[in-house]
Amino acid sequence: MTETEFSAGSMSVPEFAPPNDVPELAPFWEGIGRGELVFPRCRACRRWHWYPGPGCPCGHDDEFEWSAVDGRGVIYSFTTVHRAFLPSGSAPPYTVALVEFEDAPGVRLVTNLVGEGAAAPRIGDRVVSSPTVFETHTLPTFALERDRPERQRRP
Ligand SMILES: [Zn+2]
Repeated sequence: MTETEFSAGSMSVPEFAPPNDVPELAPFWEGIGRGELVFPRCRACRRWHWYPGPGCPCGHDDEFEWSAVDGRGVIYSFTTVHRAFLPSGSAPPYTVALVEFEDAPGVRLVTNLVGEGAAAPRIGDRVVSSPTVFETHTLPTFALERDRPERQRRP
């Protein structure tokens, strides 16, 4: 996972912190905080789940295990928000994407795109985890892989 001190180019990212009162999601946010992208996985059939739910369709009822993915994914869908619909901490434009992961089939994460390509992504574009670090929290944002060479040249 590549962590960037954030520059979203011309796009912003909502700044409000994620909810911290949902215990079922705590492992996800703890993972983001230490630079990992983790999702729940059934211990019995190895199926990935997102969001975490009560049990697995295979019949397994115990807690899932949380496993890290490598942070590379593909845009399944996206939309660019031009008009704020939240009262604060959200300054459009920003692009919200639904990202799928090759190493976690079945998971689709709602996220924000960052970087120069965030204003004009395409369905099927490859993305890589590029968390946005705020003073109080970190958000699991993604950048287009085609933006990577520029990012890697930064000192
Ligand atoms: Zn299962």
